[in-house]
Parts: sequence; structure tokens; C-alpha cells
Amino acid sequence: MKLNIAHLYPDLLNLYGDRGNIQSLVMRCRWRGIDVQVTEYRLDDPVDFSGTDLVLLGGGSDREQQIVCTRLRKIREDFHAYVEDGGTVLAICGGYQLLGHYYDTPDGRMDGLSLIDLYTEQKSPRLISNVVMENREFPYEIVGFENHGGRTYIGSNKPFGSRVLYGNGNNGEDGCEGVMYKNVIGTYLHGPLLPKNPHVSDWLLMSALSRKYGTVRLEPLDDTLEKRANQYIIRKCSVGGSFYSRAIR
Ligand code: GLN
Repeated sequence: MKLNIAHLYPDLLNLYGDRGNIQSLVMRCRWRGIDVQVTEYRLDDPVDFSGTDLVLLGGGSDREQQIVCTRLRKIREDFHAYVEDGGTVLAICGGYQLLGHYYDTPDGRMDGLSLIDLYTEQKSPRLISNVVMENREFPYEIVGFENHGGRTYIGSNKPFGSRVLYGNGNNGEDGCEGVMYKNVIGTYLHGPLLPKNPHVSDWLLMSALSRKYGTVRLEPLDDTLEKRANQYIIRKCSVGGSFYSRAIR
């Protein structure tokens, strides 16, 4: 089996080590004997969605987001077809916001790609916190770190974190975090996310490989260290199994 990963614009979107997400995916493939190739796309490179199995779009400042957004709109139709066809995507923070209709800031509106029915408005204060959250599709908690001015509203879409136990999530109001749409995960969680959440890495690998090869089975790996990193964040945010009250909204 071979997995082709497209890393979109790592020179502009790579906040808080989003690149670590790629490392996680690559190592989890190699440890299982799955061939993996990562292609880093710069702003003017044409993106080959037909030869891509997994797209990573990282986070960035508002300025960098604006640059990327203008470019992404030019390849919107191909990106849209890829998503609708079940292509796997992990979009973090700034990249997540761009999947929606728009991101409003005091400097004006950034039009997004409208790949998913969601929108974002910037408000004060910035939401900065460790995050612990649940999703019953995953065997244990998902953890990460958020730092965003945007509040995202996902309407009737399925959230990535259906219950935020600690932290703010999409908007600090509805107790949810991120979005899941077809094989796309959009999330505010940096960390980087995947090294601390091997169950999320494997969800992405499964969805990408099964789209390409039909039913696949992922060899279980020894996740002792990864689970320890996950537990460390949970312990930091809780005492005796109860979570401290939520971070400032
Ligand atoms: N610029 C966006 C915000 O502040 C995203 C920031 C990020 O990617 N961390 O909401």
C-alpha cells in the first residue's frame, strides 16, 4: 500500500509545529510497512488532487491566511471535488476557518472556500488554552492546544469534539470543537495534534487507505508513549478525574 500526502503551503501555514502532524502520519505508516510520500506544495504549485490521498492544511496568522486564501480560491473546484469524493483532509485552525464560507475580522471579510457549511467571526479575547474533549467515535479523549481569535459556527454539521471537557472549542459557547464532514477533520487543535492523539492519526490513515484500497486493516502499534503524552494534558487540566473550570472565554 502507498499513501500520498499533500502538505499545502507549509512555508505559510505552520503554527505551533503543525508539521509534527505529518511526521506522525509518516512514522505510523512506516512502522506498518506502508509506503508514504509527502509532497510539499508552495503557493504557485499546481496541486495534483487526483494523486493525493490525504491533505494537510495548517494554521497561520490572519496575514498568512489571507495570502493562502486568495490562492486556494483558484483551486477551489478541484479541492471541492476531492472532498465530495471522500478525500481525506486535516485542516488546523487558520486552515479550518478557510474551509467555511468566510472569516470576518475587524480588517474585513476573508472569503473562504465554502467546502463545509460553517463560518467564523473574530472576537475578543483570543481563546488560548489546553483542550480536552470527547468524541464517541474515538476510544479515548482527544487533547490539544488552541489559540484563536475566530469563533466558528458549524450549524448542523457534526463536531470533531462533541463535548469539550476543558478549553473553549469552536466558539466558547456551544461546548463543541471542530468539525467532521465526510473524511474531513477541521479543528482548532494544535499541539501538534497527532503525536498526542494516535487514535486520530489512525482515523485519518484508515479513511485515506480505505478510499484507495477498499477494506484495510491497520496493524496495531505500541502507543505507550503517545498515550502518556495524551494523559499528561488530561492530568494538567483535571484533579481527581474532574476537570478544572473552563479557560477564560
Ligand atoms: N488567525 C486565526 C485566528 O486567530 C487562526 C490562528 C491560528 O491558526 N492559530 O482565529
